[in-house]
Amino acid sequence: MTLETIFTMNMSSIKFGAGATREVGYEMKQLGAQRVMVAADPALVYEEPVSITLASLRGAGLDAVLFDRVRIEPTDVSFKDAIQFATEGNFDGYVAVGGGSTVDTAKAANLYATYPADLLTYVNAPIGQGQPVPGRLKPLIAIPTTAGTGSETTGVAIFDFLEKRVKIGISHTYLRPVLGIVDPNNTRTLPRMVAACTGWDVLCHAIESLTAIPFDERPALEHPSLRTAYQGANPISDVWAARAIELVSQNMECVLDDPMDDKARAQMSLAATLAGIGFGNAGVHLPHAMSYPVAGLVRQYVPEGYPSDHPMVPHGMAVILNAPAVFRFTAPAAPQRHLYAARLMGADISDARLEDAAELLVGAIVALMRRTGMPNGLGAVGYGPDDVDELVAGALPQQRLNKLSPRPVDADIFKQLFLDAMVCW
Ligand SMILES: [Zn+2]
Repeated sequence: MTLETIFTMNMSSIKFGAGATREVGYEMKQLGAQRVMVAADPALVYEEPVSITLASLRGAGLDAVLFDRVRIEPTDVSFKDAIQFATEGNFDGYVAVGGGSTVDTAKAANLYATYPADLLTYVNAPIGQGQPVPGRLKPLIAIPTTAGTGSETTGVAIFDFLEKRVKIGISHTYLRPVLGIVDPNNTRTLPRMVAACTGWDVLCHAIESLTAIPFDERPALEHPSLRTAYQGANPISDVWAARAIELVSQNMECVLDDPMDDKARAQMSLAATLAGIGFGNAGVHLPHAMSYPVAGLVRQYVPEGYPSDHPMVPHGMAVILNAPAVFRFTAPAAPQRHLYAARLMGADISDARLEDAAELLVGAIVALMRRTGMPNGLGAVGYGPDDVDELVAGALPQQRLNKLSPRPVDADIFKQLFLDAMVCW
């Protein structure tokens, strides 16, 4: 087998800093748009991030139309609603103000309004047809309000496919927003649990990109058009991931203890963006692959601080509950990288042996999980051993992520990983 020798580095432009939201009108005008769809988190419709965005766009002479029916944890149904709004609205620019759900909804609206097709056309195989996006989309500016997903820097949109009860995604570099406006003022009003879950998502993005199989241990591609955004760990993504791990580890508790700690909140926003750039090019692996059925099959769990109209396991929580089991499994394949991640989280690795990598990294993660009020494993959000087969069936199709695991996985291994994830400590 010939191994890959090439990797690429793509990213959105970023405008970072307190008050940057006020410049969205100027930026959108520079991009040439006149009629703009503003997709917003419904909880923020009367809050400053949205009102400042609308005022800035209108102040720049643009026609700004609000779409406030974004669903938190979007579905094929909620995506279609946004796509219809976009198609009928005839927009030539898009702005998303909210968390990952909002940014992803705007990406889908932009894609299908620009290149109309059945929803499954561009959805990743095997559930979708996995067709490449035909060409460039209308400009999308993302204004994240959660310091979590890094969706402002990636070409990925995730949704629940209700019929099959599975989370699935569309991924293509053309989905990437042209600009992410990261304004720490926009994360002031985050409920504590939302801040914790998004912080964990960031940390996992970074640790997973750092521990993903390296790009040069994967098979060489036969044609450059086959090179996807998720390429495996590489020397450039490592830099972004490493700094993100340090920033989250140093600032997550400060933000939870005092949401008005502007400095710590800005560091968390920065970390989300750094991690987004890292994983947008390296990719994430098993904790994320396993998170999709954990979120998709939820029956009753309703976390505090989230909308109470439907049960949900928030994305970051669904990811981190799997992480201890996964890193115990993957550490032997790349002990140095797992040790490095532990050190970046603040663990003392001076006397560590390679075989200590799993326990050092998992120990650091579990200690922080306990301090930030995470549930103790999948059992604590309503899953039991009887659910494992269905969870495995939801993780296996996440081939794009599973291929990035530093250790190969199959159904039996997933089964053991889910069983191990029932309790974290
Ligand atoms: Zn994530």
